[in-house]
Amino acid sequence: MNAVTPLKNYKSDGRYLGLYEESISNPKGFWSRQSEMIDWHKPFETVLDDSRPPFASWFVGGETNLCFNAVDRHLKDQADKPALIFVSTETNQEKTYTFAQLHQEVQAAAGILQDLGVKKGDRVLIYMPMIPEAAFAMLACARIGAIHSVVFGGFASHSLASRIDDARPTVIVSADAGSRGGKVVPYKPLLDAAIDLANYKPAKVLMVNRGLVEFDKVQGRDVDYAAAREQVGNREVPVVWLKATDTSYILYTSGTTGKPKGVQRDVGGYAVALAASMQHIFMAEKGGTFFATSDIGWVVGHSYIVYGPLIAGMATVMYEGLPIRPDAGIWWKIVQDYNVSVMFSAPTAVRVLKKQDPAFLKKYDLSKLKALFLAGEPLDETTADWISGELGKPVVDNYWQTETGWPILAIQRGIEPMSGKLGSPGIPVFGFNVNVLNEETALPCKANEKGVVAIEGPLPPGCMQTVWGDDERFVKTYWSAFSARQVYSTFDWGIRDEDNYFFILGRTDDVINVAGHRLGTREIEESISSHPAVAEVAVVGKADQLKGQVAVAFAILKGGNAEGAEAASLEKEIMAVVDSQLGAVARPSRVYFVTLLPKTRSGKLLRRSIQAVCEGRDAGDMTTIEDPAALEQIRVVVAQ
Ligand code: AMP
Repeated sequence: MNAVTPLKNYKSDGRYLGLYEESISNPKGFWSRQSEMIDWHKPFETVLDDSRPPFASWFVGGETNLCFNAVDRHLKDQADKPALIFVSTETNQEKTYTFAQLHQEVQAAAGILQDLGVKKGDRVLIYMPMIPEAAFAMLACARIGAIHSVVFGGFASHSLASRIDDARPTVIVSADAGSRGGKVVPYKPLLDAAIDLANYKPAKVLMVNRGLVEFDKVQGRDVDYAAAREQVGNREVPVVWLKATDTSYILYTSGTTGKPKGVQRDVGGYAVALAASMQHIFMAEKGGTFFATSDIGWVVGHSYIVYGPLIAGMATVMYEGLPIRPDAGIWWKIVQDYNVSVMFSAPTAVRVLKKQDPAFLKKYDLSKLKALFLAGEPLDETTADWISGELGKPVVDNYWQTETGWPILAIQRGIEPMSGKLGSPGIPVFGFNVNVLNEETALPCKANEKGVVAIEGPLPPGCMQTVWGDDERFVKTYWSAFSARQVYSTFDWGIRDEDNYFFILGRTDDVINVAGHRLGTREIEESISSHPAVAEVAVVGKADQLKGQVAVAFAILKGGNAEGAEAASLEKEIMAVVDSQLGAVARPSRVYFVTLLPKTRSGKLLRRSIQAVCEGRDAGDMTTIEDPAALEQIRVVVAQ
């Protein structure tokens, strides 16, 4: 089944509709046209080979290179224009690399990797803080056809070791340390411990020495970046032309099992998808500046810090630091100082800023900024309303996953300036035949009926090719959730309304079941958030002898924590809000008040860990937690 989803009710002037419908009914024609946005060394022969579903190969026979498209092709008209803008409020450094300088640094990094024995198809693991060398290393891999595997700097040795064993990198690129809130975070001891733990041993470790902390060097294995950089000098390292279907990178993402999945991406499809998304979604303008506040360890960092903006000929900001240090105006200062035209962040960050003095939002000249894009987690109405009001700019929610590499749902303002709806990440993005399906029948749900957000195969260009080294796991995990037929599951609950705007209601794997009623924790959170005293909330399902599960909520209050009688009365008020909005079935059995919520460093709530603590179980793998004190608070309030 490859039905065109009904789109009749969009308030569109027709441009979006035309493009979307073509992308679904004639994907080959559509993507063939989009492919003209990038440079090809050799044209492709077949736009799409989907003869082995659910696998899809895009631009078969074509040859191109991500690094060439991101860097080299801009040298003819933008050599002296900014390409990479590095700002660190941790080390008080600011440095801008033009396209010509970036070209030089990337060639040097490529030369270093080649000298260390890296060849096409070899893996290079990058475990680094947000410093320019990390981007040089990624682009250098792309240049010579090595497959990078960036591992988020916040991961500790066990996570790192499992990724080393799975990717089997020839070389690991790392640094002495990162820095967070002024505190040095050493990387090298974690890396050494990870290599000890891993069964596979990389031949070489290339170390950027920032001079932040002393570290042990392993003779014969560890190589100093600065010394190697000096040795390669200004060597020219030509681009290695790659098949469009070759692998560009692996990016691990956690799933329901303990073993992380290596999301494997191609070269040509990814380049085309990013170029198209930059134009149609992110309103790219050659010569403009893009500022994504994510980290290179996440998919947003891959797609919209490194590759996307550069492919579009924009400068990209790489920021090392917190959003509120030295003060809550730092991001807006960067927007002003570097003429940022498009910004991309996450709802959590906005909620952090919301707790600060709003005067910081008015302090700097934001006139160049066209829009703020937010993704990665649900954007609640209150936060969306607040930030768009304060900024006076469009705030564009967009919904996607590590697996897709670029947005599935968004208002595509680069096509036409359609309006969004508060609480909705928007409408289907071109190329994604996305729908809300009944989980039993795999048939489309009616308007406003809850189902699973799913995508009809073949997935568009840029999406994951497979799970690294495990085709079977790819099919089993993503394409077998519906027993009725083979369709890609996002594992998110959602609805589409009568105007065909989607709403995401939480993960299917975070579902709670109260007395036989299935409830999305996200729905309850949204409801509790509408209480004026609540700044943020997490809801989890807790085992209950009578009802199977009950919901429990942990809320952060805007005006400081509440205790005693005040807390009791607020708890009642909040329950009444849920009663009136969702019904008593969704009412949490308890609302606890805390000052922190357990989250990953990328801002995702660690619901399963909260749930485990509530149920007196072990909290599980805590390597990604932002602040362990948050979980301790949960433990304490639950015990009281
Ligand atoms: P990740 O692969 O870590 O980026 O996580 C992807 C998941 O984050 C999705 O499956 C959703 O559950 C959630 N997500 C991402 N973007 C949004 C959004 N705009 N609104 C709601 N949920 C989102």
